[in-house]
Amino acid sequence: MADKTVPEIARDTLKQLALRRLAPTPTNYQVIFSEISGTPVEPPFPVEQLRRIAHDLPTRTPGQQKQRSLFEYAVNQMHWDGVYRALVAYGSFGQKTGAEPSGFGSIDPTEPTAAAKMRPAVAVLSPAAPALTADFLEQIARLIEFARPALGMDDTRFTEQTRELLLVMRQPNADLVRVKQMLSTFGHRVSFAAEDQAEIKATLLHLLRLIMENISELSVDDRWLKGQVEALMSAATPPLTLRRLDDVERRLRDVMQKQAEAKGRAVEAQEEMRLMLGTFIERLSLITDSTSAFGGKMEESARVIEQAKTIEELSPVLKEVVAATRGMAANTLSARDELRGLRERAEATEAEIVKLHMELDRVSAQARHDPLTGALNRKGLDEALNREISTMRRKDAALCVALLDIDNFKKINDTLGHTTGDQALAHLAQVARDSMRPQDTLARYGGEEFVILLPDTPLERGIDAMTRLQRELTKSFFLAGSEKILITFSAGVAQVGMDEDTGSAIKRADQAMYTAKRSGKNRVLGA
Ligand code: GH3
Ligand code: MG
Ligand code: MG
Repeated sequence: MADKTVPEIARDTLKQLALRRLAPTPTNYQVIFSEISGTPVEPPFPVEQLRRIAHDLPTRTPGQQKQRSLFEYAVNQMHWDGVYRALVAYGSFGQKTGAEPSGFGSIDPTEPTAAAKMRPAVAVLSPAAPALTADFLEQIARLIEFARPALGMDDTRFTEQTRELLLVMRQPNADLVRVKQMLSTFGHRVSFAAEDQAEIKATLLHLLRLIMENISELSVDDRWLKGQVEALMSAATPPLTLRRLDDVERRLRDVMQKQAEAKGRAVEAQEEMRLMLGTFIERLSLITDSTSAFGGKMEESARVIEQAKTIEELSPVLKEVVAATRGMAANTLSARDELRGLRERAEATEAEIVKLHMELDRVSAQARHDPLTGALNRKGLDEALNREISTMRRKDAALCVALLDIDNFKKINDTLGHTTGDQALAHLAQVARDSMRPQDTLARYGGEEFVILLPDTPLERGIDAMTRLQRELTKSFFLAGSEKILITFSAGVAQVGMDEDTGSAIKRADQAMYTAKRSGKNRVLGA
């Protein structure tokens, strides 16, 4: 057999049959074939003969009955081991009843024999039905137990119904007709509960969107918040995965933190301005009062002066005029001092607001997202990378880290201005997000450098993903006004080793990216 192919052995077998003048019966053919090939003749499984034996086996005790069923089942399966064990067990029963030895548990139901494959499905329930049914019912019971929490636990009647069904299914010699009826009612309830759960999920998502839209409207002037809310909305778009929900939660926390800071700052500044305005109006009315009192005094003095006939009559008037003028000067002086004080306070408030702005920027820097692109910042990347690496180790899966650097970005800044450069960065981030899978993570690594984490992705597929992003960028032009700008990048992709640390993986991707730059840019290389 080692040096002859099967067709060659078949040909030689036919030759030998002719040479030896043997009748070409299946048995003769098999004997010669086995002689030439050197393989022993496997006697056929005597199904019919064994069936006859089974038929004649007496079944006086329940034990004999059961073993005969198992024997027949093993015969149908063409399973020698099963036949042997059923017969031995049958023998041990004799005439007496008692503890029954186990059946042919070693038959592997996942490996059906040729005969089993041809048997109609109904045969599964025939001879070994009691054993199989109990196992089958237990599997359904477990399936119900596992799936039940996903259908909500608020409906006590449904919970009670499930409990009852499980109880009946797990009874020894369960009443199959009753189980069938109960399963059918249970099925109806499951379909309603599943519909309810789907609706609850959709309504919750709708509520989340409403909240986010509201936050977005409250902060029309804050670009960072607007960008974050948009990212949040796209992260909360179905299909949802636990990973995406995790992302939604982290973004929402950032947004709420920033919103609280912004609100506190606005309330404080508003209160300060209100106080200052109040003082200013008060001072203004005092000045007006004293000025009009002074004007009245002057008019009256002027009249007295006109009517005076002697210098003595003028003397008291002059004294009054001097006193009124002094009073007016003093008033003006205090008003000026107060106004100066007010201005100083206004300047202090302004400085305070600048300080608050700086504080806010510091808080933003502590957040996990980059304000310009909405991608994760370095802090966010560190967290995501640690999380992905531990998942990779736990699941023994592949993880790729890709690092991309925009080609000739300085030229975009130089020719179109820094603001357009900023928009180009935001554009690239958007295209990347659109072409990535929900479980991938985008982070801004530096100025015009981004890192993409690709879980469950071996190196070759990681390179493919980045090449796909390159293609997407050539399709989705960046529009600077009416000018179409083609953004290209060079990238390095590294598959993280099981024991590798985050820094080393990024460093390898970075080196591959530099090699891509040196070999002409606009290409993706594996590390
Ligand atoms: P190369 O193809 O070799 O990568 O060339 P390059 O011009 O892209 O690289 P280079 O490192 O010389 O320049 C990167 C430029 O990116 C310089 C910097 O001013 C600009 N940049 C970094 N961060 C930002 C940003 O947030 N906004 C804008 N508009 N420009 C940025
Ligand atoms: Mg760079
Ligand atoms: Mg660059």
